[in-house]
Amino acid sequence: MKITPLGIWGAYPKANGATSAFLVEEEGFRCLVDCGSGVLSALQTRIALHDLDALVITHYHPDHIADVGVLQHGVMIETLLDKRSQPLQVYAHADDEDQFSNLQYGKYMSATAVSPQQTQTIGPWNVDFCKTDHPVHCLALKFTDKHDASVVFTADTAWTSDLFPFINGSELLVSEASTYQSMIDQIPGHLSGRQAGQLAHETDVEHLLLTHLPQYGNVDDLVTEAKDVFSGEVTLADPAKTYRIGKG
Ligand SMILES: [Zn+2]
Repeated sequence: MKITPLGIWGAYPKANGATSAFLVEEEGFRCLVDCGSGVLSALQTRIALHDLDALVITHYHPDHIADVGVLQHGVMIETLLDKRSQPLQVYAHADDEDQFSNLQYGKYMSATAVSPQQTQTIGPWNVDFCKTDHPVHCLALKFTDKHDASVVFTADTAWTSDLFPFINGSELLVSEASTYQSMIDQIPGHLSGRQAGQLAHETDVEHLLLTHLPQYGNVDDLVTEAKDVFSGEVTLADPAKTYRIGKG
């Protein structure tokens, strides 16, 4: 499984950047995780738009859905130009019915409701969902391939032990790290670098990848905070890199 960061910023993008989103690829199947500000542009530095097979949305905050409208336009135009023959499959929770219904876009984009109660098959993966602690309903994601390799995306969350059993056994934890430990009380609904490290420690993952980063301060300090409590590998998500887990 290949995991490529497309954007690494929380809330809003830095200059020439994008908000938190990832491209997940295996067996030629390509899935976008979240579609926030700047993501459609970043995606096309990696793949042609018509090669995108699926999109999973964790929650309906703008830094995770801002580019959905322009993605719909892109998919429509590529379909009209005969570059795409299938609708783009979109998976998201339907807790917010208005937001969920906005994902459906004629014959171009087809939305499927997901929930923590049910594993969803998406391309070559089984994808599981876990409710996080966030001001709006938000789902963490776990992609597991047929070789049993798995990656968890925390999406947006405050500290919660509810995620422990969900993350346990995964090789890679892609965790939000929205602020610094000294400022955690000022940024509710999110994790500090230290808390992301604590999550990795409690769940015994091999590699912690930090994303949804703050625009302020020195983000390298987030790695230092995480390493204070977690002895595995810790890195800042880097849009110039692709991370591999498992055999695929
Ligand atoms: Zn959010």
